[in-house]
Amino acid sequence: MQLDYRVTLLKGVGPIVQKGLARLGIHTVQDLLTYWPRRWDDFSTISKLNTIKPGRVAVLCTVLAVNVRSSQRQRRLSITEAVLTDGSGTIKAVWFNQPFLLNTLKKGEQYLFAGNFEFKNNYLSLNSPTVEPATQENYKGKIYSVYPETSGITSKALQKLIAQVIDQSSELSDGLPIEVEQEHQLIPFAQAVRQLHQPASMAEVTQAERRVGFAELFELILTGLVIKQDIKTETSPVVEFKKEVVEEVLSMIDFDLTDAQRKSAWQILQDLEKPQPMNRMLEGDVGSGKTLVALLATAMTLRAGYQVALMVPTEILARQHVVTTKKIFKQMGLTSELLISATPTAEKKLLHTTIADGKVDMVIGTHALLSEGVEFNNLGLVIIDEQHRFGVNQRRTLKTKASFMPHVLTMTATPIPRSLALVVYGDLDISVIDQLPPGRKPVETKVVREIDRSTVYFFVDQLLAQGQQAFIVCPLIEEADEGGAKSVKAEFVRLQKTVFSHRKIAMIHGRMKPDEKAEIMQEFRAGTYNILLATTVIEVGVDIPNATVLIIENADRFGLAALHQLRGRVGRSSVQSYCYLFSDSTNPNSYKRLQAMEKTTDGFRLAQIDLEMRGPGEIYGTSQHGVLDMRFANIFDTQLLAEVKQAASAFISGQNMVEYPQLVEKINNLKKLTSLD
Ligand code: ADP
Ligand code: MG
Repeated sequence: MQLDYRVTLLKGVGPIVQKGLARLGIHTVQDLLTYWPRRWDDFSTISKLNTIKPGRVAVLCTVLAVNVRSSQRQRRLSITEAVLTDGSGTIKAVWFNQPFLLNTLKKGEQYLFAGNFEFKNNYLSLNSPTVEPATQENYKGKIYSVYPETSGITSKALQKLIAQVIDQSSELSDGLPIEVEQEHQLIPFAQAVRQLHQPASMAEVTQAERRVGFAELFELILTGLVIKQDIKTETSPVVEFKKEVVEEVLSMIDFDLTDAQRKSAWQILQDLEKPQPMNRMLEGDVGSGKTLVALLATAMTLRAGYQVALMVPTEILARQHVVTTKKIFKQMGLTSELLISATPTAEKKLLHTTIADGKVDMVIGTHALLSEGVEFNNLGLVIIDEQHRFGVNQRRTLKTKASFMPHVLTMTATPIPRSLALVVYGDLDISVIDQLPPGRKPVETKVVREIDRSTVYFFVDQLLAQGQQAFIVCPLIEEADEGGAKSVKAEFVRLQKTVFSHRKIAMIHGRMKPDEKAEIMQEFRAGTYNILLATTVIEVGVDIPNATVLIIENADRFGLAALHQLRGRVGRSSVQSYCYLFSDSTNPNSYKRLQAMEKTTDGFRLAQIDLEMRGPGEIYGTSQHGVLDMRFANIFDTQLLAEVKQAASAFISGQNMVEYPQLVEKINNLKKLTSLD
């Protein structure tokens, strides 16, 4: 038997089993050996019922009674319940959609059960435990590997197949250098594979998980370091630092930079002076003033004679940036132009020529910047605002629009802890604005039930009377039957007819024409309207400091990150702002999210909560798709992260990578996913 042999050569693999295995992605012996267990049922310690605590347990019990019924709420759901005893006490075990257990479990017989003992549906029970007949053999304190199953392929079947080829695991390797293994006291991969499938103890499982998880992180972090090294070999325009330029820009605004802005700007301007491309991320919570820092870098680059492109995720934000930029740049004699999909064709064509000729200094736009026909004359700096909204491919395309390698600055308000950023954005340098402009008051946030609606409206109306403005965000554009969520259009009619009939209300949503949207935003900014009803088109970036009230309808429909971004639309001046989250949801998870919003306005803290509630996959979004298919690495384990980081740095500075072909191949694959080049 060899690693690349088809599984069809194994005993018991006929056409049907083969199909099932294929569904699990298992075609060869190697696939089978690296098909990891989902969990382990530990029969090595059998607990007594009078001592068990909630959590994973294994018990040896006799069946007292067993029955199957269908759920009252969901008719298609069958519930099997059994009453078990081991002499020391009794317990209820529950299974869903496994009616066949009625035939398996015989009254008066003894079995081993392993599963979660937990509080569910108002009582403590053993939830969907695995069942093993209590024969001599499995009595001996074995640990069973439990795999993700598919119809026709049970964990037991997989265990048997793996047992046939487990000896071949000695030929497996994952490319982690031996020196690293030794230095960090890791077992060889082959041994880890064996221990994951057929552990002799739970300690062996833990040891193997650490080994495989270490390698997962090592590859990712090393990839970041390699990209960083590659970038250093490219050349970019040198943008000389000129104090006058900074002074010129700052003379046109009526506030001082915060220390955090100053520090970040300094780091960026230093990068620009180097002949190697900058690859930096500017991280700062909503409202921390990232735009101004970006404009300082822009002004410096333009003054050095190079062009700058600023790419943003929404048209509304692009227009806003043009307004902000023009205010400053016009007086400096610098030009900035808007390029979005809605730009009329003739105008677009003209822009294409002036950009290519270098007559336009700065171009601000949406993904339209990526379209064909856009070529720069001498692009020196690319800035990507709200970078989490863009995929890697889009960023890559923008870079190819320049004749040489431009500097790249990405900005994000999705604050991820530094230790995590290091893993995900290993190739980036990071600057953090960890401070809000002075005088900002935390947005007062309340989760509100329907019965308090009129109280909220009454309070909001008082603020409107003082000349402040409000956003009201609804999940839908038009009313749909769908669970009664509020829509912008219906609310527009309702509010105008009733509570806010004496106020000026406008609405904005994604199905309006771009010109219309632009006009509404401009008028709202100018104070023509008291209330702007909007969908999430205003989620990112919109900066209207006079807006101090935000109402979010059906707030439970939004994720924590979106809620935090939306809330960032208010609290942008020294006036106290308010955020009302309407929700009558009884879902415990959404309630937890809304409560977190009430408790903290700290984006970092919220991101952490979000991570804990939803898992890391969400944070990385599509831009990092596939990178975090980490099965064993725990990215919250900061100690492990630090250790792997140290290992990767030591490795890259000491070894000749070419000697590790398997590792190099893996890194090249990862590079395609994460690198911009
Ligand atoms: P974000 O980081 O969310 O992109 P912006 O750059 O839009 O934030 O800035 C938010 C608001 O704060 C803007 O109105 C901006 O003019 C203002 N601002 C930025 N820096 C300062 C500062 N140092 N002092 C006072 N206000 C500032
Ligand atoms: Mg912004």
